[in-house]
Amino acid sequence: MISIIMPVYNEGSQIYSNVSKVKRILEQNQIDSQILLVNDGSTDNSWSEMERLSRDYSNVLIIQLSRNFGKEAALCAGLEKAAGDACLIMDADLQHPPEVIPEMVRLWRDESYDVVEGVKSDRGRESLTGKFTALTFYKLFKKATGINLNSASDFKLLDRKVVDSWKQMTESITFFRGMSAWLGFKRIQVPFKVQERVNGCTKWSKSSLIKLAVHSITSFSALPLHLVTWLGSILLIVDVVLVTQTLYMKLVGKAFTGFTTVIILILGVGSFIMISLGIIGVYISKIYEEVKHRPRYLISKIQGKGLNNE
Ligand code: UDP
Ligand code: MG
Repeated sequence: MISIIMPVYNEGSQIYSNVSKVKRILEQNQIDSQILLVNDGSTDNSWSEMERLSRDYSNVLIIQLSRNFGKEAALCAGLEKAAGDACLIMDADLQHPPEVIPEMVRLWRDESYDVVEGVKSDRGRESLTGKFTALTFYKLFKKATGINLNSASDFKLLDRKVVDSWKQMTESITFFRGMSAWLGFKRIQVPFKVQERVNGCTKWSKSSLIKLAVHSITSFSALPLHLVTWLGSILLIVDVVLVTQTLYMKLVGKAFTGFTTVIILILGVGSFIMISLGIIGVYISKIYEEVKHRPRYLISKIQGKGLNNE
């Protein structure tokens, strides 16, 4: 049996028809499944639409989080509650085309791959700056962590043993794509074309994307911290050269007349120190978040049978 997991945030206008479509495709291909919908604190009629779905279809299970925790947390809730032999994660707006599901299931069932990853063969309609920032971020991420996220997506099928291994990663702030790459296992990629969003609009604002980028790099790599050390060392070398030169000038009686060097040095060193403190601050705030050991999400309501409640 497969658990299909979808995070839902303000998708009231389309969730019913989208889930029905997924269900139809699953039935046509005789895939035994449960569909887990996680309501991430939607403020529209998503929950009542989800209740309607769970009334109409016996294999639809619905989970209500106590507030909006973000897509990552909603995914965690779904993965932890799923009981299937494999879990398939997809967006509720069907930008991840459900037509690809049978092929993903076949690769898992017949060719025994543990992780089947949907990769974007085409980024869909996205602004030029959007594409550019995404690509720059992937480059930075690859440099810092060695994990290639280019064209990776959250559209994935994970075998039970991968889900169980994933559960052992206990950090409270998660970055699902990075974590899943870190896990390893026998994996294969399936290209898919990102679909247009039919209804509503994307929930990602520019600032939330920047936050996600900083968060994902700092939770997977300490390179920025080492960078601080490197910058410091380079500065030290420059310092030694300048000190020697200044002393030499002093000794031969040709001391500096201007303050140019002094000003440049003060500004340069000052800004390096500020940036370094900032980077260290980001990591300290992460440590602070992690030691609090808060749960990743809180569930206020669950409906439907067949959940994993160990
Ligand atoms: N989502 C969520 N919580 C949030 C934001 C989004 O559960 O705080 C869900 C949303 O309902 C959708 C998926 O995450 O199923 C992807 O969101 P969206 O389509 O807004 O992102 P995009 O496709 O633009 O990356
Ligand atoms: Mg979307």
